[in-house]
Amino acid sequence: MSIYLDYNATAPVRPEAAEAVAVALVSAGNPSSVHAAGRAARVLVEDARAEVAELAGVKVGSIVFTSGGTEANALAIESARAAGFARIIVSAVEHDAVIENANATGLCVEILPVDGEGVADLAWLAKALAGEGRALVCLMLANNETGVIQPAAQASELVRAADGWLHVDAVQAAGKIAIDFNALGADTLALSAHKLGGMQGVGALAAGPRATLARRLHGGGQERGRRAGTENVPGIAAFGVAARAAREGLDVMAAQAVWRDRLAARVAEAGATVLGEGAARLPQTLGFAAPGYSSELQVMGLDLAGIMVSAGAACSSGKVKASRVVQAMALADLAPYALRVSGGWASSEADWIACGDAWVAAYERHTARRREVA
Ligand code: PLP
Repeated sequence: MSIYLDYNATAPVRPEAAEAVAVALVSAGNPSSVHAAGRAARVLVEDARAEVAELAGVKVGSIVFTSGGTEANALAIESARAAGFARIIVSAVEHDAVIENANATGLCVEILPVDGEGVADLAWLAKALAGEGRALVCLMLANNETGVIQPAAQASELVRAADGWLHVDAVQAAGKIAIDFNALGADTLALSAHKLGGMQGVGALAAGPRATLARRLHGGGQERGRRAGTENVPGIAAFGVAARAAREGLDVMAAQAVWRDRLAARVAEAGATVLGEGAARLPQTLGFAAPGYSSELQVMGLDLAGIMVSAGAACSSGKVKASRVVQAMALADLAPYALRVSGGWASSEADWIACGDAWVAAYERHTARRREVA
């Protein structure tokens, strides 16, 4: 038996996206070429742009394709720096792709705290925005570890009033909840194909009229001069197809909330703490922490039962670290024990139930062993 419940790390490629890759791979064109093959490749890229724009609720021309969510975040942050923004405010629960790129600018980086549910403190933000210098504010739409949804639209009112730039990392939210760029009031918004059933190594940045994008990569004039380099046509074509499927499948995703909550009730009954339970969350993400049962042991215990999940964060180095997000929620004692279960487009109720059965059994074995040792 093999059950994959780690969609927030990466989603399995949707069959229609895999098909789009195969089709694009056998058509040889470079989208910048004017001959028939080039024009065919251009059509694939532009059709995908329209689908990705629709997913994010933006105009087609606002989408710049990148090599993934990390580059999309980097492009937004670098663009704000180049546009003269003097400081950066990042929420304490941002992904490393945001925090490390903010640090790399050399600008002053202030950390926007979150409450015990993992929700950004907007009163703090209002005060910070009143300080000296126009600020870039980075607030993710949904957290990768807990699924907690941030009040981006409220934050945008504060950011606009202070003449700032709001960057929203929507990498985890896209395809799991509806996104409306204008309603969010974002200036830039980052997306990643592999979180919604497209290929790894493809992403996009949506930019509104107030955001002037910098030239991060120098070279050809692709992406209207905003991102040089021959486009990843197969990956972009698959992104478009996956974006459409994700948009059409939002109700399938929403239905997972019931299964997620049943699992939450089971782990809570066994003694675990559900993270961000009181906050609005993505429907398919469950973060919890079981005191005394390390993240690493939980991941291994479930893996032995054929179930694939992540420690709080899927660490890019392959090592399990104490969750920074849980620490930011003032739950530092729980940070070494965080686990993340995340379903997606192909997950079934049976998957969530099997995960609960395996986790409860593994947890009981673990606590029994600890009792013996004590
Ligand atoms: N932002 C968030 C919230 C993420 O969860 C991730 C990936 O885990 C990224 C950005 C980076 O995206 P990518 O893997 O496409 O570079």
